[in-house]
Amino acid sequence: MTKPSVLIAEVERLFAERGATAYFGEPVTTAAHSLQSAALAERHGAGPALVAAALLHDIGHLLHALGEDVAEHGVDTRHEDAGADFLAAVFPPEVSEPVRLHVAAKRCLCRIEPGYFDRLSPASVRSLALQGGPMAAEEAADFLGDPYGAAAVALRRWDDDAKVPGADVPGLAYYLPLLRRLAGA
Ligand code: FE
Repeated sequence: MTKPSVLIAEVERLFAERGATAYFGEPVTTAAHSLQSAALAERHGAGPALVAAALLHDIGHLLHALGEDVAEHGVDTRHEDAGADFLAAVFPPEVSEPVRLHVAAKRCLCRIEPGYFDRLSPASVRSLALQGGPMAAEEAADFLGDPYGAAAVALRRWDDDAKVPGADVPGLAYYLPLLRRLAGA
């Protein structure tokens, strides 16, 4: 059993020690990208669990700490599963499952939303191919029927927009009380 306080301390350590890595070919660091995702979620009126999911959606990248350009080397790190499994030890599924599904949400949006693919960044297009490409129509319909499908799609949109160099957003400390509440720490 992971103690909530221990896991949250680990999140702080990962952001501090590994968050400064470049975010997979994007113009922001992984920490900046994560903090921007959370700020966008909050600005769009997301509830606490989805704000936390947005903040922590790429924690799997920090756990792996692979090079910033893994997708260019043809490696799919399955960071969404690593991150979701890590989070599920102390957070409710409303936090962990949108994280698990945020890559699938990209594949879903590519199928259901005209123009979505064209707005993806080059790094996102590269990783899409490794992640299985756009969903088939039936797979996309199933995905939207998942209890956490809609939350994952919302998270994905903030994820896609959270790549602005130098954006002025709250730091990790701002979210710690929210994380502690959600984890019962
Ligand atoms: Fe992301």
